[in-house]
Amino acid sequence: MVLDRPGSPLRPAELPDPEPGPGEVLVAVRACGVCRTDLHIRDGELTPGHSPLVCGHQIVGTVLRGEGHEPGARVGIPWLGWTCGECRYCTSGRENLCVRARFTGLDRDGGYATHAVADARYAFALPDGFGDLEAAPLLCAGLIGHRALRMTGDAERLGLYGFGASAHIVAQVARHQGRRVFAFVRGGDAATAAFARELGAEWAGDALGPAPEELDAAIIFAPAGELVPAALRAVAPGGTVVCAGIHMSEIPAFPYEILWGERTLRSVANLTRADATEFLALAPRVPVRTRVTTYALRDDERALDDLRAGRLEGAAVLVP
Ligand SMILES: [Zn+2]
Ligand SMILES: [Zn+2]
Repeated sequence: MVLDRPGSPLRPAELPDPEPGPGEVLVAVRACGVCRTDLHIRDGELTPGHSPLVCGHQIVGTVLRGEGHEPGARVGIPWLGWTCGECRYCTSGRENLCVRARFTGLDRDGGYATHAVADARYAFALPDGFGDLEAAPLLCAGLIGHRALRMTGDAERLGLYGFGASAHIVAQVARHQGRRVFAFVRGGDAATAAFARELGAEWAGDALGPAPEELDAAIIFAPAGELVPAALRAVAPGGTVVCAGIHMSEIPAFPYEILWGERTLRSVANLTRADATEFLALAPRVPVRTRVTTYALRDDERALDDLRAGRLEGAAVLVP
């Protein structure tokens, strides 16, 4: 499925099989998770690196040939597709901020396809105990969610704003770590609130309403700028608000007093390979159980629509 121009639906296309270059692997795609970032690319809020573009950056594939992984190995291919290794970020353990980074499904063709090519250094063995479909959401919702969770330090009372693919994984990890989880959902969305409670949230309620008690940290997954002041109001002095999405609508002005008190407001961008290794080792120990809704590859537009409308629980996964 290729994107010709932002704002237009993806279309099925027959492309030549991609050819792995030096240090790359060719995989047969088993499953590809759908991320909100794909929706931002599809809708024109992020600019594709080329066109037509194959989206998708939560790829579970079987290695067919290439270098760095044995044929037949199952690998996961996440958003971070390549880094330069030389810039000030790469050389200081912050390759997620690499100035020349290339991202899967944005700069490099991704996994809304039967085949994909990846740099072998950015393809990861996946834990046993996860089927192909269940493993796909670990690769972005899980990885970047986990990075966001780490940025909250040892916060005990954790608010999750937007309870989609990422939050449904983060809630399980946070409970495993002994944190208390509070889920903030769209007003009136009783189904998502119930889903959050099922995954260990002790409270679930309206994201724009008051929190039931002070929080130590909050992670905002929903791309809605008005949640930033709402989350700042909910966290205690010294608390942290982490914005985990790649795009967000404009943040409304807010009074300094809700940031005062050494509250921290920060974003989380992309992932490092160390994040991937760490989280893929942690996920089976929790153990994380992902909830997936599957769609045929050609039904990607329906999957994106359901994601946009908040109609699905957990994560959407395309199956070629
Ligand atoms: Zn993503
Ligand atoms: Zn770099």
